[in-house]
Amino acid sequence: MTDTPALTVTFLKAGSCRQKARLAGRLESGSIDFHAVFLHVRHPEHGDYLIDTGYGPRYMELLRKFPERVLGWLLPTRLATDEYPDLRIRQAGLDPDALRGILLSHFHADHIGGVSRFPGVPLVARRAAYESASRGGHWSQVARGFVSRLLPDDLSNHVRWIDEPNFVPGTGVLSDFLVHDYWQDGSLLWVDLPGHADHHVGFLLRTAEGPLFYIVDACWDVEALLAARRLPWLGRHVQHNAQRYEATQQRLRDFHHATGIPLLACHCHRTLPRVVTA
Ligand SMILES: [Zn+2]
Repeated sequence: MTDTPALTVTFLKAGSCRQKARLAGRLESGSIDFHAVFLHVRHPEHGDYLIDTGYGPRYMELLRKFPERVLGWLLPTRLATDEYPDLRIRQAGLDPDALRGILLSHFHADHIGGVSRFPGVPLVARRAAYESASRGGHWSQVARGFVSRLLPDDLSNHVRWIDEPNFVPGTGVLSDFLVHDYWQDGSLLWVDLPGHADHHVGFLLRTAEGPLFYIVDACWDVEALLAARRLPWLGRHVQHNAQRYEATQQRLRDFHHATGIPLLACHCHRTLPRVVTA
């Protein structure tokens, strides 16, 4: 696709939580930071967008009360006052006021935690992912990592839903995946990567430096994924569907071996060198 416009992609992060390295499929013992990475994406015609937001101060406030407090115990979270996502964008020389939309990969708190820092910026999300995350009562939602109060009360006025018929079988090396070509120019594909969360997606991005596949939370460590290292029991147990998670990982291994296109995961240490920090 020689006429596919090239995106400019900037990796940023807002906050982190501590977790056992083994849980992510790493070989070392002890704890590591799971950085809440998010992306700023500039399309030459359509303008500036985010993919996720990382954490924000609203999440830190909500952690003071139950049931969200339990999330804070399980995933001790740090967010310095100079690393709110809008500030990170400014520190990188970009303009948060120019954003035209925030594309959401899934509804876990480390991906939507900063939404309230961007009032008036439309959210774009897969309707089925939201319907699954918001099922049940407050405690049940939080147990699945969804904190509804991170989103606007009148969500329907702020969101553009992507419905399932928009996801269609990909072609060529993507024939194993359902994809949604967002701008219908091949520059940004939403790719169905189920398992981690219900209807979780990654994004295949065309940049001037070549394509890259931001697989978000389809794994926590790309080395473990490529080595087909199985997660420990707890790591599998916290996935929405462990079988689908492993099947998605096999498809991603096959894709990577066939194309050589880099896979980049949100919390993976290999992603960190790309992240612009202040
Ligand atoms: Zn997640």
